[in-house]
Amino acid sequence: MNAIALPQADARPILRERGQHEVFCGLTGIVWLHRKIQDAFFLVVGSRTCAHLIQSAAGVMIFAEPRFATAILQDKDLAGLTDANEELDRVVSRLVLRRPDIKLLFLVGSCPSEVIKLDLSRAALRLSRALGPQVRVLNYSGSGIETTFTQGEDACLASMVPELPESLEGERNLLVVGALPDVVEDQFQRLFDALGIPVRFFPPRRSTQLPPLTPGTKFLLAQPFLASTAHALEERGAKRLASPFPFGVEGTTAWFEAAAKAFGVPEATVASVLAPAQQRAQTALGQVREKLAGKRIFFFPDSQLEVPLARFLSRELKMELVEVGTPYLHQEHLGPDLALLPANTVVSEGQDVERQLDRCRAAKPDLVVCGLGLANPLEVEGLATKWSIELVFTPIHGFEQAGDLAELFARPLLRRTRLMV
Ligand code: SF4
Repeated sequence: MNAIALPQADARPILRERGQHEVFCGLTGIVWLHRKIQDAFFLVVGSRTCAHLIQSAAGVMIFAEPRFATAILQDKDLAGLTDANEELDRVVSRLVLRRPDIKLLFLVGSCPSEVIKLDLSRAALRLSRALGPQVRVLNYSGSGIETTFTQGEDACLASMVPELPESLEGERNLLVVGALPDVVEDQFQRLFDALGIPVRFFPPRRSTQLPPLTPGTKFLLAQPFLASTAHALEERGAKRLASPFPFGVEGTTAWFEAAAKAFGVPEATVASVLAPAQQRAQTALGQVREKLAGKRIFFFPDSQLEVPLARFLSRELKMELVEVGTPYLHQEHLGPDLALLPANTVVSEGQDVERQLDRCRAAKPDLVVCGLGLANPLEVEGLATKWSIELVFTPIHGFEQAGDLAELFARPLLRRTRLMV
């Protein structure tokens, strides 16, 4: 373990820790990605543990014909006694025959497939040749070794970037990057339409509608955990627009303003298009602010949403930030949010869980945002907690969801008050 404080671009000392950490693996992303890309199937190549994780996280009933499954590696595969590739080809052929609705198949790597060095990129190429053009086969890793659970989405989207078609017509367009619930996507689409900005969303709802990249493509990240995807898009010539992330009124306004500026939309148009939604969001926030103002909150590193959410809670709901932990701090992507945190906020990157628990217990915050593994023990110790994974499963982006997002933090406090009566 080590803990060092280094000066950063915005002169804020960052507490960096490298020790034991508590995280879920990237397979978790399949839960929301399979709902988003409606003709994709996610085949995890893993163990029974992987199958249990994904089944219980998704809570899907067997008769619902889910669009994910696990090809379970047996002892003889792990011992190298059988050819796992042949077995995989057999499983995929059966699957594709049974499910003609599948247009995109992801082979998702896991800890066991990585331990036996099963080369899923070669398997994806081989299967793509055999099954294309009806079914496209891609691969990415959802392995839990040194990852966080939101990295699964990043790896998945990054694997799709080379598939984006190229259009040489110099049309300028905007790409919104990151899986958003359809309801949020529809709201954003309406606002971009009113601003006159041609927008596409990535990932799309159907894999057959991949957005094209043109020489003028600019993109806005909707999620703060997409470092590899952003890098892959930049490699293909797309330009990222810097902005705080679209949480709360302030973040969402800045996010739309960044797009409007890049596309030359007059400020007066932006103000009039956004005003009604801003007003509704302010009203919704006003109803929750009194429950949260002055309350002290501590973030353990988990979802990578911590910095932008801390910015929202501190500036729009007047909560006091005790510590904002994040698994990784992407200075470039998170810079605009980081710059809006109070100067005295402790920001930590990585984790040494025992040390962080000690800091948390000593600070006695009103609310702790953390992973499932830490929540129950902390509740027993008398601390109110919020599961960070819930923030990824719930629509929280944009103006219309700002009130619901604030409520997510108010609810555990209310529950604890009731329990204490
Ligand atoms: S990928 Fe690794 S961490 Fe995730 S469920 Fe499978 S074995 Fe566990």
